[in-house]
Formats: sequence, structure tokens, C-alpha cells
Amino acid sequence: MKPAPFVYHAPKTLEEAVAVLAEVAPEDGRVLAGGQSLVPTMAFRLARPAHLVDINQVAGLDRLAAGNDVLSIGACVRHAAFHRPVTAGPLGDLLAFVVRHIAHYPIRTRGTFCGSLAHADPASEWCLVAATLGGEIAARSARGTRGIAAPGFFQGLMATALEDDELLEAAHLPILEADIRWGFYEFSRRAGDYALAMALATFRLENGRIVEPRLGLGGVEGSPRRIAEAEALLAGKPPEIGIFRQAAEAAAAAIDPLEDIQASAEYRRDLVCAVARRALERAAA
Ligand SMILES: Cc1cc2nc3c(=O)[nH]c(=O)nc-3n(C[C@H](O)[C@H](O)[C@H](O)COP(=O)(O)OP(=O)(O)OC[C@H]3O[C@@H](n4cnc5c(N)ncnc54)[C@H](O)[C@@H]3O)c2cc1C
Repeated sequence: MKPAPFVYHAPKTLEEAVAVLAEVAPEDGRVLAGGQSLVPTMAFRLARPAHLVDINQVAGLDRLAAGNDVLSIGACVRHAAFHRPVTAGPLGDLLAFVVRHIAHYPIRTRGTFCGSLAHADPASEWCLVAATLGGEIAARSARGTRGIAAPGFFQGLMATALEDDELLEAAHLPILEADIRWGFYEFSRRAGDYALAMALATFRLENGRIVEPRLGLGGVEGSPRRIAEAEALLAGKPPEIGIFRQAAEAAAAAIDPLEDIQASAEYRRDLVCAVARRALERAAA
């Protein structure tokens, strides 16, 4: 099928982009970034935006910059930018590992990091990274700029804290200190498919004990999130298989799993046990 008719806008500056968005948002005007999610849904007529605000020619939105504390990812930075570490240390390595799980190479050359956050698919790898590591989302509109804490940004199945007239200008992730360990594990039926369940674990070791554990799950509920019950079990314990199993079981018990054509709730809960344990094992290795 072909998309329903729409008016195409191609602003060249950020000010112009948010001004157009403010004008067309009430008529279901949408931002077009990589188009890898929006265009297929338009082609199936599941989305019928009357206006598209294409941000690909807006100067400065392809900026990717690592400071001392924060990695800033502009709205037009593609997934493929992360194929090689974008910053020294654990964060660059983590992003380079995770990106290989997103779709296929051609999609990664067009789709954007920030587009994934704005789209908020529950099985988006970048949403899991942002929800687990924290950081801030910069939302820009004709009314000004505001920062939204990454975990609170995700508000359920494909729902975010962004207002209709807000452009997700950039995502800011915390730079991970050199001694942070991380592990990511995803289960999908075929390479490139969306995850049925995935987990991201980070922690440090002090005197052989786990400090500041984070365990995030994605693909299993409406939004990715950290699992406090599992993190509480891990804190202060030696990084051993027994405690990883207990934490994974606690995570599986804590969730309210999605049920859909891909997998039953029971199956997803079972998968969580496996992906959470494996992510923790990888972080400890
Ligand atoms: C076959 C296939 C497999 C895929 N597999 C995966 C996968 O395994 N994991 C995964 O995470 N993704 C997957 N994707 C989706 C892909 O990663 C998309 O690139 C991503 O979800 C959206 O990014 P985009 O830049 O293409 O956004 P677009 O498609 O341009 O936009 C998506 C939505 O976000 C909004 N939006 C985009 N950017 C902004 C912004 N800056 N400010 C405000 N709103 C914005 C748009 O208005 C639209 O509603 C897959 C896609 C395909 C086609």
C-alpha cells in the first residue's frame, strides 16, 4: 500500500523545525527522522499523519559528543554510528555490542538513536539502555527546552513524556567509569528480529562484592525498566552464579509480562530468568 496523502516540510534550522511542528502538531504532524518505523506504519496506513516534519537537513542534529560525564547523542545520529565505540571505556563498548542486535545493517544506517527513544517500542534496545543507565532527554519546542529524566520518559507501550509539539533534540547518557562492568543478553527468534526479552546489567566490584547494581529488562513489559527487587538482592554480594540465579528469579517474579502473538506471558517470564542471569554472568566475566 501507499501512504495516505501528507504535506512534507523540510526545515533547515532547529528554530524552524519546532515552529513548523508547533503549527502542524494539532493536525497529527509528526517528526520524520530515519523513517524506519514511521514509514512502514504509514505504508500500512496504521499511521496517517497529515504533515511530516523531516529533520534530516536540520543543521547540528547529527552531533555526537562525549564530554567528561555525558555522551550527547543528537536527534539525527544513526544507529550505525555506534558500530565502533564512540567513547573510550565501558559505555562505548556497551553501545557497540548492543547496536548489533538492532534490526539489520541497512536499517541501522538510517534509523536513529533518538527516533528509537521517541518511538518507544517496548523491545527497543536503545530504550533499555536509556532506562537502565539513566541520563536525560532534551525536548525542544517553540516554548523552550526541557530535560526529562530517562527512566520517567517511557510511559508505556509506545508512549513517552514528549508533548506532540516537542522534538527530541538529543539524548544524554552518563559516561560509565572505567571500573563499571556490564553485560547484555537478548533473546529473539531470528537475528535482526525484535527481542522477546532482553536484559542489561551493570555493577562495580569492591572488595569482591557487587556495588551499585543495575538490572534493566526490555521487551517484556510496556516499557523497559530497572528491577529494584533484583538489584536489592545483588547489592553487597559476591558475583556468583547462585546470587545471579536468585536475582533473575526475583526479576521474573517482579514483572507483569506482555502477552501477544509472539509469546505468552508465561514464556516471557521464563525468558526473563534466562536473559537476566546471562546478562549478570557476562557482566561478571
Ligand atoms: C525490519 C525492521 C526491524 C527492526 N528491528 C528493530 C530492533 O530489533 N530493535 C529496535 O530497537 N528497532 C528496530 N527497528 C526500528 C528501527 O530501529 C527504527 O530506526 C527506530 O525504531 C526508529 O528510528 P527512526 O529514526 O527510524 O524513527 P522514525 O521512523 O523516523 O520515527 C519513529 C517515530 O518517532 C518519532 N520521532 C522520531 N524522531 C523524533 C524526534 N527526534 N523527536 C520527536 N519524535 C521523533 C516519529 O514522529 C515517529 O512517530 C526495526 C525496523 C525495521 C523496519
